[in-house]
Order: sequence, then structure tokens, then C-alpha cells
Amino acid sequence: MKAKYRFVAVLLLSVAACAALFVKAYGTEKQAGQGSGLFVAASFYPVYIAAENVVGSCEGISVKCLSEPQSGCLHDFVLTPEDMQTLSSADLFLVNGGGMETFLEEVAAQYPSLTVAETADGLVAEENAHAWMGIAKYRAQVGAVSDAICQAAKGDVQQLKANAARYDAKLQGLQEQQEGLRDAIAGSKVVSFHEAYEYLAEDYGLEIVYTLDLDEERQVSAGEVADVLKAVKDGGVRVILAEGAYGAKMAETVQKEADVAVCFLDTLVRGDYGADSYIDGMQQNINLLKEAFGVN
Ligand SMILES: [Zn+2]
Repeated sequence: MKAKYRFVAVLLLSVAACAALFVKAYGTEKQAGQGSGLFVAASFYPVYIAAENVVGSCEGISVKCLSEPQSGCLHDFVLTPEDMQTLSSADLFLVNGGGMETFLEEVAAQYPSLTVAETADGLVAEENAHAWMGIAKYRAQVGAVSDAICQAAKGDVQQLKANAARYDAKLQGLQEQQEGLRDAIAGSKVVSFHEAYEYLAEDYGLEIVYTLDLDEERQVSAGEVADVLKAVKDGGVRVILAEGAYGAKMAETVQKEADVAVCFLDTLVRGDYGADSYIDGMQQNINLLKEAFGVN
């Protein structure tokens, strides 16, 4: 009997200890967002990188990205319990908008007092929300991110504005390179394997004669293969814009049948979360386009 009571006592103590630990962990988590500082949540990678550059080393402001989607973009993304936890303590939620985040209604219903800033608002056409793929559009998006954070920060926003201006100057350098390359390749016809490249093609004045949207792992039909080959041959296409993860197999198939260069471009929806990762990724895209079109 004695041993049994001891067992129960140990069990009860363990339960109490676990509960105390849980409360402690949960409490700390809440405090991270609800302290005196500003807690900014970003819906996904390009928006997060913009916020990271605007906030920089400003004290009292923290930025967190929602969990990374399994496939390329956010299109079929479902919020995880951890994401809900993040949003419950956020003061500001930066999103792309334009239909990219299909879970916004759910967020508005759950957190009616959370300020949501749609940073690509007015920059994108219906049916294509990939604003960040155009450098000028992304600069405007960074401006919207900066405005939203400054508004939420209240108080002194001088450092935030200086950070945003510094980042924009870097992006301007990138855009100047892009415009230089545009002079050399504008008017060229391309085939695209990803809808995200539409605004990129627009930046360079490239004409997309056919889009095969490979935003996820899927079977490509024989009819689609034939359509791509027909578009390449009839359209005098020299370059295909593809994404590494989902476009490689299709690119290989086409290259067996047609003399065409494949440019594996970064869609900038994932990476190392470093402040310069957009600039580095876009720079790499510029270099790859130069190579594919034979421009020095
Ligand atoms: Zn997408």
C-alpha cells in the first residue's frame, strides 16, 4: 500500500511539474509579442526579407516569418498551429496580397484586431500576385512594408526610414543592371515554366509565347509536351525560363527535341533568410539571363 501511495504522489508531482513548465514556455512565448516592443509577422519569404531590411537593428522591433510552405509559393498554404500562435501575439501582419494568401479571411475572423498590410496592393494584375519578381514592383512593395512598419511603430521612425532608403538604393542598382540587360534582349520570345516569371519577363520586355505552370510536382501530359515543342519551334524561342525544383525534367525533355537554352531562375520564395538574399538571388537571375542570351 505504501509503495502505491508513493507512486501516486510522484505521479501527481510530475503532472504538476509538467503543467508548470508548459505555462512557463507558453507565457514566455506570449511575452515575446505582447511586451512593450513591436512584433511583426510576415506571411512568407520575400515579404519577410523586405521587413528584415527595413527593421535592421532597430531595437524593440522583432520580425517573424510564418512557417515555410512545402511547395514553391503560398498558393495552397494552410496555417499551422505555430503560425496561429505567431499571429495571436503579432501587432502587424505583413502579407503580399493580390490573392497570394488564401487564408486571410480566416486570419481576419480569428484576429479581428490584427492590422494586416497587403504590400503588393495595386502592383499586381488579377490572377498573378508574384509582384516581387519585378524589381520595380518589389521596390514599391518594400516601400509599402516600410510605411506599414513605420505606422505601427508610432514614435521615432527615423532609423526605419533610413534603413528602407538604404535598401532601396541597393535595389536601384539592381534595377539599373536589369534595365541595361533589357536594352539587349527586349523583344525576344521565351517559353515559361512558371507563372512567377511573368513580371520578370515584363521587366526585360521578353514575350512569353507559352506558359506551362509547374509550381508543384505534377504529371505533364503528352499534349502539353507537344504544345511546348510547337511553341518553341514556331515562335523562334531560344530560351526557356524554368524553375529548378519542378522544371528540370521537362527542360531535359524539350532540350532533346529542340535547340534551346534553359535558364533556371530563382523564384525567391525560399532561401537562407539573410537580409541580402533577395539581392543575391536577383543578381544571379540577371547573370543567368545574360548567359542564356549570350550577352556580355
Ligand atoms: Zn506562385
